[in-house]
Amino acid sequence: MSLRIVVCVKYVPDATGDRHFAEDLTVDRDDVDGLLSELDEYAVEQALQIKEAADGDAEITVLTVGPEDANDALRKALSMGADKGVHVEDDDLHGTDALGTSLVLAKAVEKTGYDLVVCGMASTDGTMGVLPALLAERLGVPQVTQLSEVSVDGGVVKGRRDGDTATEHLEASLPAVVSVTDQSGEARYPSFKGIMAAKKKPVESLDLDDLDIEADEVGLEGAWTKVEEAAERPARTAGTIVKDEGEGGKQLAEFLAGQKFI
Ligand SMILES: Cc1cc2nc3c(=O)[nH]c(=O)nc-3n(C[C@H](O)[C@H](O)[C@H](O)COP(=O)(O)OP(=O)(O)OC[C@H]3O[C@@H](n4cnc5c(N)ncnc54)[C@H](O)[C@@H]3O)c2cc1C
Repeated sequence: MSLRIVVCVKYVPDATGDRHFAEDLTVDRDDVDGLLSELDEYAVEQALQIKEAADGDAEITVLTVGPEDANDALRKALSMGADKGVHVEDDDLHGTDALGTSLVLAKAVEKTGYDLVVCGMASTDGTMGVLPALLAERLGVPQVTQLSEVSVDGGVVKGRRDGDTATEHLEASLPAVVSVTDQSGEARYPSFKGIMAAKKKPVESLDLDDLDIEADEVGLEGAWTKVEEAAERPARTAGTIVKDEGEGGKQLAEFLAGQKFI
């Protein structure tokens, strides 16, 4: 049977735009354009490479939990070459934290059917990098995270994790969850043909009822973490200019020591 790969992709606010918080301290998603999290493009790329290495004998489903517009993230992944999409959308998801998101993703992954789940190393907005581990725990399968190289061979997923001082070669039996880093290889650009083909690929829409999840298990009510306060970053002030009139080096060192940089 062909390998069933599910790639978790997140729809995130465009980091180049201005982001604001709503009154309940959630990100005001209506206020900013969104896009497929850049780091998740690497996850899609790795899934495509695993499928190519299997001579196409694999099916790639891209999965997102997010608002209506999150469909754009799925279409981007489909235009890169994924086969189908699953979009979990429900008004009661508003305010869901990492634990809640992992519950929703786990139920959707189980419903879709999988041998391998591929995630990015972190989202570009929340950047917690915890979802893959939470998801593996919920699914009760092994996790191999932060991989810069990943392959599947005879029911086993293998990967390389590059640390600061050592490189580890890891493997786990399938089914498993992996996450891949931005060192795993450039993500491909969707071709014109891919973009046209993506328009016809199926995207299944699911809500909390479809996944047997109660509204109070997710959303702000079900969240285990709470945002207490959020503030705009203060505007940048003018920098300190040190003119070298013989004492420049000393002044520079004093400034850096004052800021506790040295
Ligand atoms: C509709 C909606 C409302 C939200 N409201 C709040 C809120 O009010 N307060 C709050 O604190 N957070 C909110 N979030 C953010 C949500 O809690 C985070 O997505 C979650 O906590 C994961 O944390 P992270 O983004 O740091 O992911 P990380 O752990 O950094 O992500 C690692 C990887 O997990 C996968 N992944 C992560 N999130 C998703 C996803 N949604 N769909 C598919 N794959 C994913 C990706 O592969 C990603 O690369 C909301 C999210 C959604 C979709």
